[in-house]
Amino acid sequence: MLTFFISHVTLNIMFGEFNLIEKYFVGRQSRRKDVLLAAGDDCALLKVPEGMSLAVSTDTLVAGTHFLKEANPAWVAHKALAANISDLAAMGATPAWVSLALTLPKPNESWLAPFCNSFFKLADYFDIHLIGGDTTKGPLSLTLTVQGFVDAEKALRRDGARVGDWIYVTGELGDSQAGLDVILNKELRNKPFAEQLEQAHYLSTPRVLAGQALLGIASSAIDISDGLAADLKHILRCSDVGAHLELSELPVSSQLIQFIGSVDKAQQYALTSGEEYELCFTVPEQYKGAIDAALAHCGCQVSCIGQIRPKGQFLLSNKGQPLDWPQQGFDHFQ
Ligand code: ADP
Ligand code: MG
Repeated sequence: MLTFFISHVTLNIMFGEFNLIEKYFVGRQSRRKDVLLAAGDDCALLKVPEGMSLAVSTDTLVAGTHFLKEANPAWVAHKALAANISDLAAMGATPAWVSLALTLPKPNESWLAPFCNSFFKLADYFDIHLIGGDTTKGPLSLTLTVQGFVDAEKALRRDGARVGDWIYVTGELGDSQAGLDVILNKELRNKPFAEQLEQAHYLSTPRVLAGQALLGIASSAIDISDGLAADLKHILRCSDVGAHLELSELPVSSQLIQFIGSVDKAQQYALTSGEEYELCFTVPEQYKGAIDAALAHCGCQVSCIGQIRPKGQFLLSNKGQPLDWPQQGFDHFQ
């Protein structure tokens, strides 16, 4: 109890001096109509549109585990918010609000200023209002809770895949893992496109438009945070089905191919690369022809990479040759 009291007083003196919350977090955005009261009071007051359900997701990023302590604060802010928005995208939800619990070792304004500029830039891009949060002293970490709206009947869940459905992914896979390799191993900085891949690790674009466009078309969806093989397995487990994946269909960037040295190796990377924040989704045969038109305005490519099979079948092939299904998922920095 006493420890709590002392730490709280210390915190108020530290943060009160600079009035950090007021300066950096309150009143930075024009208010959405559904935000009746935002950060600054004891609670935010919010209005969910008639007929919609609230989609809610929380994620924590800890320095040393999800990003390095010395990482660019602007990139950390982008990564934290993008990772959370990606969960809304994977349900087909429209983002609306976010709250931010920030733990800082000290009130470091040269860290907070770029962090907040980047955070609000991405929030404003998706019309997401920061409706509150908490600011405390301790080892650097961020916990975000995003909220959005979706018709619960149509939401893209993990349990809707059926045998015969086609498996798709948005964008290109593997860049994020290669970027993490560069972050952790300085020797790789001399390789082609190392700098671009490092940025790609932090600065993904959540597939919000694609998620919304897939409502009524996709039978299931998930965002790729632990690696394609591991995340697809979540869909398979929840839907009680198996799958066949064709490695040579995995979309990879030309920069990844040049960084790694071959298309084959790049596609191996794409299979397990985590924190991609692309969508993996399944589509019944009758809607296959509707995908290109539905996603035309979303600004991302989609690739068909396999098909749902009966329960118990986990087949992986490369140009028809059978391979072992990878066991491991993505495991952050340690
Ligand atoms: P309380 O003691 O009621 O928790 P706080 O002093 O923690 O109040 O916060 C005051 C107000 O500032 C609250 O409305 C809270 O939501 C908001 N706030 C605190 N930290 C943040 C933050 N990091 N981002 C956004 N809003 C914040
Ligand atoms: Mg508080």
